[in-house]
Amino acid sequence: MTQRAFELPVLPHEPVDHAKAAAAFNADVARTEWHDEALWFVRVKRDRAAASVPEWEALRARASAIKEHALTHLDEYLVQFEDNAVRNGMQVHWARDADEHNRIVHGILERAGSRRLVKSKSMLTEECGLNPYLEARGIEVVDTDLGERIVQLRREGPSHIVLPAIHLRKEEVGETFHEHLGTPAGLADPTALARAAREHLRERFLAADATLTGMNFAVAETGGFVVCTNEGNADLGMALAPVHIASVGIEKIIPRAEDLGVFLRLLARSGTGQAVTAYSSHVHGPRAGQELHVVLVDNGRTRQLAREEFWTSLKCIRCGACMNTCPIYRRSGGHSYGSTVPGPIGSVLTPGLDLERYASLPFASTLCGSCTAVCPVKIDLDAQLFRWRQRVVEGGHASMAKATAMKASVRLFDHPRLFRFAGAVARLGLRILPAPLARLAGGPWARTRDLPSPPAQSFRAWYRKNRPGGPR
Ligand code: SF4
Repeated sequence: MTQRAFELPVLPHEPVDHAKAAAAFNADVARTEWHDEALWFVRVKRDRAAASVPEWEALRARASAIKEHALTHLDEYLVQFEDNAVRNGMQVHWARDADEHNRIVHGILERAGSRRLVKSKSMLTEECGLNPYLEARGIEVVDTDLGERIVQLRREGPSHIVLPAIHLRKEEVGETFHEHLGTPAGLADPTALARAAREHLRERFLAADATLTGMNFAVAETGGFVVCTNEGNADLGMALAPVHIASVGIEKIIPRAEDLGVFLRLLARSGTGQAVTAYSSHVHGPRAGQELHVVLVDNGRTRQLAREEFWTSLKCIRCGACMNTCPIYRRSGGHSYGSTVPGPIGSVLTPGLDLERYASLPFASTLCGSCTAVCPVKIDLDAQLFRWRQRVVEGGHASMAKATAMKASVRLFDHPRLFRFAGAVARLGLRILPAPLARLAGGPWARTRDLPSPPAQSFRAWYRKNRPGGPR
């Protein structure tokens, strides 16, 4: 049978309108509020965890340097990893793009006669559109991470790379489980729901004839790899299934086993505020009688590596911290980005795949720099977002309104007098406009919050009046 190449497109080609999708998310004011607060809670936990490690900044600097070294020697480390992995009994495959990745995985399953695949969290397979590809070929795919399973049952994508179902209320999860798993109607107790999911997934694990995992780190020196989870689902799949496929983006290579000590200390603390993930499983070869395949995937990574301005974005270890802290992500939800990886890092990586389609993403940021401040591998995310904005405008991908607004901003920021005058006019306007109109001028966000009124005077004017020693 001739196989059609990639008949289910991963990326539909309509442009993503982040602002419009964010406005739709914001229409549910209560959801916007708790989504914001839930992620801020995680961010605060991250701060406490980071503060508990005195050498935190040194660890970040070390992690950044290791990643930069690995990325600038990727050709050597990939080959070293392959040699050692093969020596360890693994079969290594190389995939140029999503299509090739999916064909390789399907081929492995076909040859092994596998029809039921359990998958543990792999954003790469989301990026490649693996689930629909395999399902269209008669293979049952079950995501086994709880959050991933919830969104899979709802036929949605994950909205966060670490907390895939963070956009959902427990009542919505209860409705989904009632519909698909037969739990009692109205059940919304998280413990009871987690128990129901565990029973459901246990059956799938026992019935599976293949498992697919991602990798957090692939170690060139040993040809082994590490998978980090909090639920132990990757371990269960690896321990039971006769075929194990591990898919990995080529940027996940690190040179030495001792480097793991740096990354494992940073990863969970940055992502969820835990000292370490509940399971950090080290794999150095197949179990007796098991097939172990590694698929090394490019899918646009070498193109990003060749971009002088953006190559360091490949240092990302997918901790999710930049999402948790981003004021735009927290208040617009992950689905508004229309990409597998949302938030600040998604807005830096995804335009590299298709600038025209994702032209709105670099603007989904206040450029406050909070993402850069928390990133454990010191990616200058805000600077890269700013650079993408310039590429979007130069490439003619910005709307007329945005291009005009940016030109006007350049003029304003280049002329301090004009800037001060515009500020005075804006403050005056907000003071004299009737309150409902002033709130309207603040946009939808102002309508969702009980914000204090904007100050009636500039900080400079306030300071002159209130400075120690009296007004001047
Ligand atoms: S860019 Fe940095 S903060 Fe964001 S997910 Fe990647 S490693 Fe984490």
